[in-house]
Formats: sequence, structure tokens, C-alpha cells
Amino acid sequence: MNYYSLNRKAPDTTFTNAVIKGLAPDRGLYFPETITPLPTSFFEDIDHKSYSEIAFEAIQQFVNPEIPESVLKTIIKETLSFDFPVVKLNDHISTLELFHGPTMAFKDVGARFMARCLGYFNQNNDNDVTVLVATSGDTGGAVANGFLGVKGVKVVILYPSGKVSDIQEKQLTTLGQNITALEVDGVFDDCQDMVKKAFLDESITSKMQLTSANSINVARWLPQLFYFMFAYKQLHQQHDDIVFSIPSGNFGNICAGMIAQQLGLPVKHFIASNNANNVVTEYLKTENYTPKPSVQTISNAMDVGNPSNFIRIQEIYKNNFGQLKTNLSSFSYTDGETKAALLELYEQYNYVADPHGAIGYLGCKDYLKTNENVHCVFLETAHPTKFLDVVEDVIHTTVDLPPQIQSVMGKNKVAKQISNYEGLKAFLLNA
Ligand SMILES: *Cc1c(COP(=O)(O)O)cnc(C)c1O
Repeated sequence: MNYYSLNRKAPDTTFTNAVIKGLAPDRGLYFPETITPLPTSFFEDIDHKSYSEIAFEAIQQFVNPEIPESVLKTIIKETLSFDFPVVKLNDHISTLELFHGPTMAFKDVGARFMARCLGYFNQNNDNDVTVLVATSGDTGGAVANGFLGVKGVKVVILYPSGKVSDIQEKQLTTLGQNITALEVDGVFDDCQDMVKKAFLDESITSKMQLTSANSINVARWLPQLFYFMFAYKQLHQQHDDIVFSIPSGNFGNICAGMIAQQLGLPVKHFIASNNANNVVTEYLKTENYTPKPSVQTISNAMDVGNPSNFIRIQEIYKNNFGQLKTNLSSFSYTDGETKAALLELYEQYNYVADPHGAIGYLGCKDYLKTNENVHCVFLETAHPTKFLDVVEDVIHTTVDLPPQIQSVMGKNKVAKQISNYEGLKAFLLNA
């Protein structure tokens, strides 16, 4: 499969190159040249397929021929070493729990898949690749964990000081080995801007091979399409019209869901559920796409003012606003509404959600008001203990720490403070 740049000013490239480069030379995001729908038998037989088989068949066309079949099977098996259960709340609402991985955020799948692809490409290469990544919370931990100990790969993570939770900070600052955390005096968008700038800085790129592990990287982004298929497998016998509500920040996850739909997955509708960072909600209302500085909320992994993957969604819909609108709704919620939803989920369903999942739940509820006969699945994108302060405060109950979380809490944070781009540059050139 070849990939083209959405800025259309760079040559097409291979999967390998797209993964190693992250962003095209013209700063565009890479997009697959073709998307060939899976045969209808794939969906008819889905009950008889394991998650690994589903994932293999779904992703194969995107990585062919550069990752041989047997290697791809191993990568998938190692990536999907935990469960993806659907929990039914009532006849119209379920949640797909994506937090059973090592860092308890859905980003584990993309990070693990990408790390293994990069490890494969780099196995006979003496020059290290440096993965440079900005995180608003969960990416950092998932990437750090996914890449830990991968030969030939160094990881540098930028995170906004004081704007990620304690657990998130521990997850990305305590691993050591090939992982370095940079604590940035700023917000997520500052981190993301610095990363983008470094990719264009020849004084850096002439000395080292940089790549990204944000969802702009195709190997991080595409495996997320598995989730939607896993949910379908669990629900299709009871429900015909399945709608997904996705708590969205950079819009990588929801865009991967749309790729699953392009592959033929019967999805009735998508809901982008947002916090106060509502660029897309506003766009669907007004047709004006106006990126804004990010606003801090209790669902911090979605505090994104200029979602990087929205351009991929525009590409899927060929920039046809009308068509996009028939397939996508978007709602935005305040922190107050998010807390009320956390409490409602706990009181009505005895379900402990995290703030991101709670926003997904609200998206389902709003959509169901005008679409009664569907089944809405909201993605629970992080385990509630990753946002312990907020959750416990709202539901007045203590939540047990799962073993994955306990194991990082006692470790010591190691991070290097930087305040601007010069700080990042100095670090990279001297490391
Ligand atoms: C990253 C993240 C999101 C947003 O996902 P995008 O693909 O960036 O839209 C939502 N919830 C949690 C918990 C996350 O970590």
C-alpha cells in the first residue's frame, strides 16, 4: 500500500516510510492510497473469527507487502494481549471498554502496534530512530510503555507541566531505559507545536531520524479501527443499527472508526463527543472550521484546540460537508455536565466511568433523543483510576487501583524541564 500526503506536495511513499517519517515532507498527514472493502463474508463470519484474525484481515492491505504475513500475525498477537469487552448498560446504550491494556488507555493498541512495526523495520539498521511525541495525558504513557526496550528506538515525550494527572505523569516519567520525559512549561498545544517545529528543523533532521508516535503516524492511527470491529462482533446479533460515540481530542480514534466503516463495517452513525474544546461541534453547526487555543478540562486527553486528524476525516468525505453531516454528529459538554454524567452512570448503572467515557455517554444520550431505534456504544477510553481525584470526588467512593497502576505509583519521577523550542532543540542535539 502506498500513502499520499494530504497536502499533496510530497511524493507518495510506502508504509515503511510513512511510519518512519511520521509526517510527509510537505507537513501533510499520510493517507492510504486505496481502501478496499473487505468481502461481505468477513462480516458474516465474524462470530467465528478471533480478535487476532479480525485484526489481521482488516489491517493487512494497509501494511502489504512490507510486513510479511507471519510477522504481521506476531505483531497483532503481541499487540492484542488483553480484552475489549462490551458492557451493556441498557437496551440502547453499551460501553466498549478500551482500558484493559498495560497503561489502561485505549492508546495502548496503537502504541504497541507501531512500536513493533518500527522495531521490525529497524532490526537491521544501526542508526537509532527517535520517536518524538507530544502528549495531553495518555499518549505519553502508552507510547513509553509500548516502546520500552525496543531496540534501535529512542523515545522523547513532551508533556504540559501540571496538566496531566499524577498517574499519567508517573506512567511516562518512571520507565527509564530508552524513554525520556520532557516537562514543558505550557499547554498541550505548545508541546504539539514544538514537535511539529522539530520535524521541520533541518539542523535537527540532518543529524537524526525523527518520527512521531501521535495519531498522525499511520501505524498508531490505523490499528484503532480494530475496536469498532470488536464491538460489532459482540453486539451485531442483538442490534442492527449500531452507533458509536467517541470521546474525541485529536480525532484519530473516530477517524479510524470511519476507516472501519469504509472497509464495510455496518456502522449507522458516528458521534464525536467533545469537552469544551469544541472546534468540530461548531464546524458541524456553522460549516466554519476555526481552530482555537486549547482549554483545560477534567477530560484532559481531549484538550485539543486544533485536532490533527480532522483533515483525514475531510478526506474520507471528499470535503463534502453534507455527506459528513449525515454520518457524523457532534456534541460538546462542560466539566459540570461531565461530573453529573459520572454520577448518573454510577447511581443508575453502578458503572464507574472516567471523565472521557462520561462524555461519550452524554453523546449517546443526546443522539438517542432524536434517534430512538439505535444501539449506541460509547468508547470508554481510559480506566477511571487514571482520573482518580475527579472520579472519587464525584461518586464519593474509593476506586481500587488496578495492578498496572499500582506498579507505577511508587516509582520516582524523572523528567527534564524545558520552557521553549530552544530547550527541546538543545536536548535533542546534545542527547
Ligand atoms: C487520547 C484520548 C482521547 C482522544 O482520542 P483522539 O484519538 O485523540 O480523538 C480520548 N480519551 C482518552 C482517555 C484519551 O487518552
